[in-house]
Amino acid sequence: MKIKAKLTLGIGLLFFMILLLSSVGIRNINALKNDSENILIANYNTLEYARNMLLALDEIQLKAGGFEDFQKNLDKQKQNVTEQGEGKATGHIEHHLQLLKANPHDATLHLLIRKDISEIMRLNMIAIQRKSDIAKETARTANLWIVVSSTICFLLGMTLLVNLPSNIANPVKELTNSIREIAAKNYSQRVYYKSKNEFGELADSFNTMAEKLEEYNNSNLSKLLIEKKRIETLINNMHEPVIGLDENKSILFINNEALKISGLRSEDVVGKTAQEVAASNDLVRSLIYDLSEQGDGSNQQNESIKIYADDKESYFEKEVVNITILPTGEKEKKLIGQVIVLKNITPFKELDFAKTNFIATVSHELKTPISSIKMSLQLLENAQTGTVNTEQQQLIDSIKEDSDRLLKITGELLNMSQVETGNIQLSIQESTPARILEYALEAVKVQAEQKQVELIVDTEENLPTIKADTEKTAWVMINFLTNAIRYSNQAGQIHVQIKRLDNLVHFSVKDEGKGIDSRYRSKIFNRYFQVPGSAKSGTGLGLAISKEFIEAQGGHIGVNSEIGMGSTFYFDLAKF
Ligand code: ADP
Repeated sequence: MKIKAKLTLGIGLLFFMILLLSSVGIRNINALKNDSENILIANYNTLEYARNMLLALDEIQLKAGGFEDFQKNLDKQKQNVTEQGEGKATGHIEHHLQLLKANPHDATLHLLIRKDISEIMRLNMIAIQRKSDIAKETARTANLWIVVSSTICFLLGMTLLVNLPSNIANPVKELTNSIREIAAKNYSQRVYYKSKNEFGELADSFNTMAEKLEEYNNSNLSKLLIEKKRIETLINNMHEPVIGLDENKSILFINNEALKISGLRSEDVVGKTAQEVAASNDLVRSLIYDLSEQGDGSNQQNESIKIYADDKESYFEKEVVNITILPTGEKEKKLIGQVIVLKNITPFKELDFAKTNFIATVSHELKTPISSIKMSLQLLENAQTGTVNTEQQQLIDSIKEDSDRLLKITGELLNMSQVETGNIQLSIQESTPARILEYALEAVKVQAEQKQVELIVDTEENLPTIKADTEKTAWVMINFLTNAIRYSNQAGQIHVQIKRLDNLVHFSVKDEGKGIDSRYRSKIFNRYFQVPGSAKSGTGLGLAISKEFIEAQGGHIGVNSEIGMGSTFYFDLAKF
């Protein structure tokens, strides 16, 4: 039965019960009222008239008056004859009253009339008794009726009370539980109601919805699985080794190429933490040693790694990509893992080696002819060779300048190729900072004078000796000084300072030139880098070589500079 019909029936039944109880009550109360009214009208009034007639008779007996009163009450009694024999007794009173009017003091008539009135009273009292019994019976029947109908109403009401709320609430509860299950992604949840009411229809709709959700979920799952397979295949077929880590540094995937160069097996690494694998694998150790703890996707590190695999040396550039997501409803990005990609840069490295060798050979080969040009120039300048006029002298000076530059460039290129091939030959020994400084100042003296730049030297007294290759360190100092002179204004000042810093000796060259933009500061030690807009006469190699020289000696090189405020180039070397 439908819930609506059930509710209508239940409420209808209650309504009917109220009607039934009230009609039974009204009917029985009416019956009782009728019975009592019956007694009142038919008998009580007669007793009243009889009493009044007796009083009037007393008055007649005493004063021969009161006939009027008697006659009035007798007339009323005549109108109210209700019991059997009452009419006859009333007739007797009428007859005896007529006789009494003629003879008011006749005691016999008085006695007869009193007897007649008593007869009427007796008849009515019997009637009252009888009617009272009838009323009692009516009340008993009314009680019975009320008890029966109340019992029926009580039983029906109890049945409704017990059944109706649970009939409605139970399916709702069951449905609520099922919806909770669905919300918890238990899509196999179904609801079964036997009845074909509204809840049955609701259950059918719910089941259809759950079925569709299950279907959708399954199809999404299979789609995801296909996508996962596709991505796995893609990663496996990449020519670059790739390793994926989750946020706890556990290995999520490792492609075939990475397995090949590391000599690992997929089943031995996937699911394990990178640290565990690193314990037994050098390559993985070198790959994970500096993985940043947290990242925003921008901190990728590139560095080259040499790997010996497949009987040959290969060079890879490591790139770590931080994978971050923005969880729904949150503002902070969250790191969910990292991907290590190794780019095979062996062909570039090979090309680089070829280029370095080429440069080394060419610069080495060029050195001899340039030196001989310089010698020839010296001979030309010699008066014994013959006099030259002013114009010829100018040409000779210009050739000299160019050949000096050429010699400097070939020297730098040679140094560079030595650095690149790792062939720097250092002769580290005990050296005094003063000697290095003297050597460098001597080399740039002419250049400074030409530009009228004042070199202000400030060296601490009693400086310790240092562990250094004097020639190479002086080369760095010369490079700092020539740059400072080049980028200083005409007649500017350059401060050269050497001081002690704990266990180090600190060399610095400060100029008052245009300074270096912060954008380029980190790049000026890179090879071939020149700040855009600066003098093109250099090679962009000087600072790169300086860095290699100082670092090869275990020192540290750097620069402090602000645009428009000049630059301070410095390096530190350990004391002997
Ligand atoms: P270069 O041979 O071009 O001078 P360096 O490696 O010595 O090569 O210098 C690299 C770049 O650094 C230069 O091109 C120049 O722009 C900048 N630089 C070096 N020293 C200074 C300095 N003292 N003041 C301003 N810029 C400088």
